[in-house]
Formats: sequence, structure tokens, C-alpha cells
Amino acid sequence: MFKKILVANRGEIALRIQRACREMGIKAVMVYSEADREAKYVKLADEAVCIGPAPSGLSYLNMPALISAAEVTDAEAIHPGYGFLSENADFAERVEKSGFQFIGPTPENIRMMGDKVSAKQAMIKAGVPCVPGSEGELPDDAATIRRTAKAVGYPVIIKAAGGGGGRGMRVVHTEAALINAVQMTKAEAKAAFGNGAVYMEKYLQNPRHIEIQILADKFKNVVYLGERDCSMQRRHQKVLEEAPAPGIPRKLIERIGERCAAACKKIGYRGAGTFEFLYENGEFYFIEMNTRVQVEHPVTELITGVDIVRTQIMVAAGEKLPFAQRQITISGHAIECRVNAEDPYKFTPSPGRITMWHPPGGPGVRVDSHVYTNYYVPPNYDSMVGKIIVHGDTREQAMARMRTALLETVIEGINTNIPLHRELMVDAKFMAGGTNIHYLEEWLSQHKR
Ligand code: ADP
Repeated sequence: MFKKILVANRGEIALRIQRACREMGIKAVMVYSEADREAKYVKLADEAVCIGPAPSGLSYLNMPALISAAEVTDAEAIHPGYGFLSENADFAERVEKSGFQFIGPTPENIRMMGDKVSAKQAMIKAGVPCVPGSEGELPDDAATIRRTAKAVGYPVIIKAAGGGGGRGMRVVHTEAALINAVQMTKAEAKAAFGNGAVYMEKYLQNPRHIEIQILADKFKNVVYLGERDCSMQRRHQKVLEEAPAPGIPRKLIERIGERCAAACKKIGYRGAGTFEFLYENGEFYFIEMNTRVQVEHPVTELITGVDIVRTQIMVAAGEKLPFAQRQITISGHAIECRVNAEDPYKFTPSPGRITMWHPPGGPGVRVDSHVYTNYYVPPNYDSMVGKIIVHGDTREQAMARMRTALLETVIEGINTNIPLHRELMVDAKFMAGGTNIHYLEEWLSQHKR
């Protein structure tokens, strides 16, 4: 096992990885930008290295700074967390070329999945069902684009091959709007992701976002850890997640889970990964794979008892998965609310000093957060300041626990989206379960203030 790991990230996930390392008797080297000097995991660190100024381009995305931090501290492996460089194949490659273990899949697998067109092609080959659409990248020629859209059937969605974070997508309802939309998405994709390739999919009208968590070792052992329902989204960004997904027959989950595991075996995947699907009328359609730990991984940890971050570290060190598929059982129900420093209804970011932080507690309540009273939320990064996660025997109990937890939570000095979560937890449609990806946006437009 590794003796020392460098954590190439910030925020709650940096703390989460630090915790896993401590439990495993591994030293964790924490890195921080000048804006993150005060973070909890930096204060708690055995070792911490400043990697640059606040802008992430100069710190958390600065590959040479991260690699030299690993060199000077004698770390053996680098955990990239999520976001930043976690899905950057060039980074994974540089990490390994510099003699460190990258805690994640091979650079080849990251590259394959990072390009959504090649990811879809690999999945089709591996027998994973995909959203119908263009066979690959859209060509420049307008007639072919029109023909493809006609065959797919309107409405269609134009998506950037290199897109992520809910950006680089455009829905098209009519042929008249098609070519212009393709050109605009291409230009935006080129500017935002440095890759102007776009592809087309059928735009599903009322799907749910259901994803399958997998874990794999270097010996082609793969397990799937059930599903998560991440349909509650705003601007294609997840707001709250739960597991299991209400109302989806276990047989269907098992079938798709086995397909995902088989696909991982086929491509020689190792580490943690998530297959994201849209689910409509009893069918799953693959949209993309995330080759890293996800923000919402705790809901899966709570219903399976598997420590995903610990397992990532184990398999990166060359160990075998410590469990087989038949040992994975789903117990109870978990919900996660992402706590963001933002106006709960207008969504404007609200960085600043937290004058009071009182997290909830009690049975079945978990809080993953790097902040504390008097912590200054820097304006430079994602607005998430933590996650409240609950577990109950049933979905009803989990919701009741979340209501209690949200009631107990006191955060002063900044605005947060806690009031929004409180309302959603008593919303009749959410409580009934099974809302689709448009539900939250519709809810927000009806609850304008
Ligand atoms: P990103 O990598 O930016 O997160 P995804 O491909 O995962 O992009 O899509 C994000 C979200 O966009 C999905 O959860 C869903 O809400 C919506 N979306 C993507 N593709 C489609 C589609 N074909 N039909 C309907 N909605 C879609």
C-alpha cells in the first residue's frame, strides 16, 4: 500500500480523500492555492503545499506545480478528486511518466471517455444502449446534417464531444433552426473546450437521469454498486441526488449494471467510474461516462456500505477488489443535498465569510464539508460548500431525516440554497418520487420570487 498520497484538489472532496487516507494509515499531502490557506483539511494536514495563486489555472490546473509538489514531498500517488484535472488524460499521463501512480483509470480510458463521441462508439460496441443519434461527429455539410436530424427525428440535441458540466448543448425543434444551432454549438465548443466537434442525439422529452456506479481492479474484476437518481437538475447541473432510484424495477437495474460491468471488462477499465444514462419508458440510454469519483458518491456508500474512495486507493495500489458482485447488497435509502453558497432562488453566487456554521447531526446523517465558523468562502471556485447526506430504512425515513437535518442546519454570513432544499423535501411530486430532469426547472419557474 502507498505510504503517502498527494491530494490534487480542494474543498470537501480534498477532505474526503484526506479522511480515507488517515483511516488507511496513509499520509496525505494537501495542496492549496493562496485562497485556500484557511481550509479545514489544510489546517488538519500532516503536510500541505501551496501550489500557486487563487485562479485555478495557476494552481489546481497547474500540472507542473502539482507534480513538483508530489516530488518534494515524496508522495507515491496522486488522487485527482473530481473536476479540475481529474478527467484530463494528459495529466494522468504526466503523473505516470513522472513515476507516480494516478488514482484513476489509464490515460487511454480517460481519453476514450472524455470524448463523448468515442465514448458512445465504445459503448455501442460493448453492447450498452445509447441515445439514438448521429453515428459520430457531425460533418460540415448541411445536407447531411439535415438528413441525420430527419432520420433521428425532431427534437434533437446538438452536443459538444468535449463538453462537460452541463455546457455545450443546444436543443433544436425544427429544421429551420438546425444549421444555425449546429454552427453556434460548434463555435461555443471550440471556445470553451478547445474542440469544435459536435454530435447529435434525439432529445428525450421526459427522461430521468439515472447513473450506475462501478468499481474495477487491474485484474478485470468489476462490480456495480447499484444506481443513483440525479434527475433534480438546474441547467443540467445536479442539485440533489438519491439512491436507489424510486420505482425502477431491480431487474432492470441489474440488467444495465451487468452491461456496464461487462463494458468495463472489455475496455480494461480500472478504478471508480460512473455510467450516466437517461431513462425513459423503461429503457436506459447511455449519455456519458465519468472516469472519476463523483460528488454524489456518498449516497451509494450509504446504501451499500462500500467506501468508494478507499477502494479507489486500494485498486490503484494494485490490490484486488475486496468484494464480488454477489456480496453487494442494497440497504435502505439515501439522499444528498448539495449545499451551495448562492442565492436560493436567483442562484447568484454568495462567497464571503461564514459567521456561523452549525451542521446537522443524529442517526443516519453525514455531512461532508471543509468549512467552519469564520471560514471565508473564496469567490474563485465552484460554489459548493458541502453536502448533507442522510440514510434511512425507507425513502420516507430518509426524507424525514433530511427535513430534520435541514431544519437543524444554521449557516450565517453567506446565502445558501438550504431554503430551496427545505421546500423540495416537502414538495408533493418529489415526495412521490420519479420526477424527470425538467421537473426542478418547471418548479422554479412556478415558484419565482
Ligand atoms: P455533461 O457532461 O455536460 O454533464 P451530459 O451528456 O451528461 O453532459 O448531459 C447532462 C444533462 O443534459 C443530462 O443529465 C440531461 O439532463 C441533459 N441531456 C443530455 N443529453 C440529452 C438528451 N439526448 N435528451 C434530453 N436531455 C439530455
